[in-house]
Amino acid sequence: MTTLEFKNVTKRYHVRGSGDMLALDDVSFTLTSGQTIALVGQSGSGKSTIAKILTQLERATSGEVLLDGKPIPRMGRGLRAYRQQVRMVFQDPFASLNPYHTIRHHIERPLRLDHVVPKDQINDEVFRLLERVNLDTNVVDRRPHELSGGQRQRVAIARALASRPSLLIADEPVSMLDVSIRLGVLNLLADLQREENLGVLYITHDLATARHFSDEIMVLNHGVVVERGPADDVILNPQHPYTLALRNASPNPDLHFAGSEPAGPETAGPETAGPEDNKTTSPETTTNQKGGN
Ligand code: ADP
Ligand code: MG
Repeated sequence: MTTLEFKNVTKRYHVRGSGDMLALDDVSFTLTSGQTIALVGQSGSGKSTIAKILTQLERATSGEVLLDGKPIPRMGRGLRAYRQQVRMVFQDPFASLNPYHTIRHHIERPLRLDHVVPKDQINDEVFRLLERVNLDTNVVDRRPHELSGGQRQRVAIARALASRPSLLIADEPVSMLDVSIRLGVLNLLADLQREENLGVLYITHDLATARHFSDEIMVLNHGVVVERGPADDVILNPQHPYTLALRNASPNPDLHFAGSEPAGPETAGPETAGPEDNKTTSPETTTNQKGGN
């Protein structure tokens, strides 16, 4: 079992001309393999800052991040090993994939760098990973722009899985996607979480999917965790006025995940998996169901 501790983390951004900006104020939580925690809060509440500190794209001003009790190495092989264990799925799959490189290149890279499989098995492993995320293997020699948004996000997920991580940080992984395909991608993440016993930090502003896909919910407001607990408790019986306000702002006040919320800029919920995701490939055409283990 892998345990990631975010311990008393404070983050100040220095903003030229206007002094310091307190983005996180003494935030603590623990994520372990096999568990999904949803981190919810409005835009600007500090969610991505937590993701960036977890992946060491930013450094905490104070506090620490511990993986199985050990601080993250600042550089070199230790940092690479940490990043192999803790992988990130970004909000925008178009920005996170290099337009000049093929899908094969994107997935091969972590396989080579992390020496996941022997060289002569890299090709098979690329195909296995594509099948794992329900993509047809014929996307392998295409470039990102030739894929739909949902397919691109599946590639980003396959790339994250390539290093066989224990923990996945998913920062609003479906908010840039067409509403009709969000559920398909979230269901994929949930399947992978279960089958690979991943720990997932699911960052979202959508309370309905937070409730449906997570064991626990943590509510962040202006860099402070104002409420946390089992998902149903937080949603059905919120204790903090901010959580209640978030709940009341939702178009689906019961926050039952019906998969039928209307699309809105901040509150869109997923609908059923639609055709856009399957424009050139269909999960059903995947022949190999051998799974990932
Ligand atoms: P969220 O992901 O919840 O929308 P962020 O973590 O991106 O929030 O941002 C939290 C706060 O920190 C915001 O007020 C944002 O403007 C500020 N912030 C984020 N990154 C930087 C940065 N590099 N420099 C200065 N301020 C930043
Ligand atoms: Mg963000």
